[in-house]
Amino acid sequence: MSEYFRKKMFPEQKEFRGKCVDCHGALELYEIDFKNKSKILICRRCSLLHLYTKSFLGGWKLVKARKMSEPL
Ligand SMILES: [Zn+2]
Repeated sequence: MSEYFRKKMFPEQKEFRGKCVDCHGALELYEIDFKNKSKILICRRCSLLHLYTKSFLGGWKLVKARKMSEPL
């Protein structure tokens, strides 16, 4: 496969950079679950947790956001 098509079909997985749904602060990785293909990111500003799952297209989809003190 040529480099061109490889890049087109499998774009480099850049470090995921989400934004907090609440304060739009930067998110950083908090926990990763390879088994469930999900990960939790935490807002640097307000500590809101964001649960993401891997979509079948390869991107990350926000499932829910919750405060640290709330149960899953
Ligand atoms: Zn936030």
